[in-house]
Amino acid sequence: MTKKKTTFNISKTGNFSEWYSEILNKAEIVDLRYGVKGFVVIRPWGARIIEKMYRIYESALRCTGHEAAVFPAVIPEKNFKRESSHIEGFAPEVFWLDKKQGEDRLALRPTSETAFYEMYNLWIRSYRDLPMKIYQRANVFRNETKATRPLIRSREFHWIETHNAFATKKDAEEQVQDDIRMTEEIMHNIFGVPFLPMRRPQWDKFPGAEYTIGSDSIMPDGKIIQQPSTHLISQHFVKAFDVKFVDEREKEKTPWLTCYGPCMSRILSSVLSIHGDDNGLVLPYTLTPIQVVVIPFYNDKSKKINEAVKNIKTNLLNEYIDVKIDDSDKRPGEKFFFWEMKGVPFRIEIGDKELENKTVSIFIRDIRKKVNVSIDDLTESVKNLGAEYDERLLARANEFFSDKIVDCKNKVDIKIVLDSGKIARFNFCSSEKEGENCAEFVEKELQARVMGTRADINEKAKGNCVICGKKAKVVVYAGKSY
Ligand SMILES: [Zn+2]
Repeated sequence: MTKKKTTFNISKTGNFSEWYSEILNKAEIVDLRYGVKGFVVIRPWGARIIEKMYRIYESALRCTGHEAAVFPAVIPEKNFKRESSHIEGFAPEVFWLDKKQGEDRLALRPTSETAFYEMYNLWIRSYRDLPMKIYQRANVFRNETKATRPLIRSREFHWIETHNAFATKKDAEEQVQDDIRMTEEIMHNIFGVPFLPMRRPQWDKFPGAEYTIGSDSIMPDGKIIQQPSTHLISQHFVKAFDVKFVDEREKEKTPWLTCYGPCMSRILSSVLSIHGDDNGLVLPYTLTPIQVVVIPFYNDKSKKINEAVKNIKTNLLNEYIDVKIDDSDKRPGEKFFFWEMKGVPFRIEIGDKELENKTVSIFIRDIRKKVNVSIDDLTESVKNLGAEYDERLLARANEFFSDKIVDCKNKVDIKIVLDSGKIARFNFCSSEKEGENCAEFVEKELQARVMGTRADINEKAKGNCVICGKKAKVVVYAGKSY
C-alpha cells in the first residue's frame, strides 16, 4: 500500500502537547467549545471508551463484594464541617451553590466521603453489617484554579468511588492492598497503563486519611500523572460522623473505613497518550468502541459482496466483537486514514478477489501490517489477534516505563533527571512532618513533586538526605507533574 498523505502528522515524541490536543479533537474524543474553563464535552468516541472502562471496573468491584449505590451530587455544608482537616483540604476547590433561605448551604461534591458517612451512621449498627462495601459511578467537581488540561486536570471528572467499612484495622488495610491490586489488574494489565504505587508523604495525604497510597503513571513528555488513590480513613474522621457498631460481645466500636477512586476520564488520558502514535490513536482491543472495521469494495457483483459482508458482521457480533461496516462513499484512502486515526485495531478489506479466494487481509493498526486469514476462520482469527494486540500494547508500555526511574546522589543529578523527563529516586530525610521543608525545596527550586515512598516494596535508605544532609530515613521518588 502506498502511504497516503495524511492530515494527522504531528509527532508524538516531537511535540506531545500539540499531539495530545490535536488527537482529542481529530479523533473526536472531547469538544472544548462548551466554553467553560475545565469542563469539556466528551463525544461519543470518548464516551464509549469510558463506558467500557466503567464496565470492566464495576464488574471487578462486584466480583470483590462491592454493591452499587447512587448518592446525591450535592453535600450540605454541615457534613463538611464535621471533620476539620477534610474541609480545610477541600475548601479552596469546592463549588458552592447559592444558599437558599432557611436551608443549609450546598456544595457540588468534590468527593463523597461526607455523603456516605452520613448514611453509614444510619446503616451500620452491628458487626453483622460489616464489611459494608459500596461504590458509586459519579461525576465530581473541583474548582481547579490552575491551568486546566482536558481529561488530565479538569473541574469535573468521571470516576468510581468506593467507600468500605470494616470491623478491624487489619481488614481495612487488606482492602487498601486489594485496591492497589485492582489498579494493577485493570489499569495496568488490561488498559496497558504502567504505574508506581506510592505511599504519599504525610503532607500530601487525602484530607482526613490516616494514610494514602496513590498510583503514579508517566506521560510521554515525562510528566507524572496521578491515577487511582486508595485511603485508610482516620478514626477521627469516622468518629466525627458518629459511625459505630456493636461487636459480638455487645461492645461499641468504631469501624475502619477505606475509599478508592479510579477516575475513568483521567485514566483515558493515559491510555490515549501511552499507546497513540504519529498516525493517531492506538486503542487497546478491549477498550476500543469498534474492534473491526470492514471496508467493502463494490463492483457489478456487489450483491455477493453485500451478502458476504453481512455474514461477517453477524458472525463477529455473535462473538461480541464490535464491528462496523464502512460502506460510505468516501474514497478508500480517506477511510483507511480515518479509522487508523481513530485507533480501530483491525481493518478488513473485501472485494471480488477476496470472495473468490475465501481469504481476507486484516490490517493491524499498531504495527501497520497486513495478515491474510481465511474467511471461514475469521472470527477465531480476530479473537486471537485481539489478545495478541493487547499483549503487544502492554509490552510496549512496560518498555516505555522501564527506564524512567533514575537514582540520584545530589540536587544537580535530580535536576538533570527531571529535565530529561524521568523520575528521580533519592535518599530523603523523612516522609513525616519533618521532611516537609525538603519537599518544599523540591517543589520550589526543582519544580517537581515528592511522590512518596514505594508501597509495594520495602526500600531502605542509606546515608543522608540529598536535600538537607540530615540522616535519611526513606527513599523517595520525585517527578514533574501537570
Ligand atoms: Zn531533608
